[in-house]
Amino acid sequence: MDIEKTRRYYDSLTDDDLCDCDSCRNFRMQIRETYPRIAEYLDTLGIDIAKPFETWSIELENGELLYPETMYLILGEPSGSFPVQIDDIDVHLTDSHPYVDMDDPHFVIELSSFRLKDLRIK
Ligand SMILES: [Zn+2]
Repeated sequence: MDIEKTRRYYDSLTDDDLCDCDSCRNFRMQIRETYPRIAEYLDTLGIDIAKPFETWSIELENGELLYPETMYLILGEPSGSFPVQIDDIDVHLTDSHPYVDMDDPHFVIELSSFRLKDLRIK
C-alpha cells in the first residue's frame, strides 16, 4: 500500500465528496472522539477516519446506532497487514464494495463494528 498517496487522497476529499445522509453525518460528528485509538491507527495508514468510502447504520434499542461495516479506500496494492484487531474493532480486506471510480491501483478495507450515539435531529 502507498501510505503517502493515500494520505494525499484523504486530504483532497472535501465535504462535497462525502455522503450527506443523516447516518453518515452522525458518524463524522463523533467517530474521531469516540474511537481515538482507531483514528490513530488509520492515520498511520494515511486514512482520515471521518472520511469513509461507505458506511451505514442500524438503530439499536438503547438509542445508539450500530455501523456494522465501514469501508475505507487505500491506494496502492493490497498488503499483508490485514486482518488486524484493534480494541473491539476488526479490520479486514473486502472485495464486496460499491464501484470505485479510480484509475490508480487501490483496495478497500472494512471495519466492524462501530457503535455511536444517535445525534441525528429527529
Ligand atoms: Zn451516507
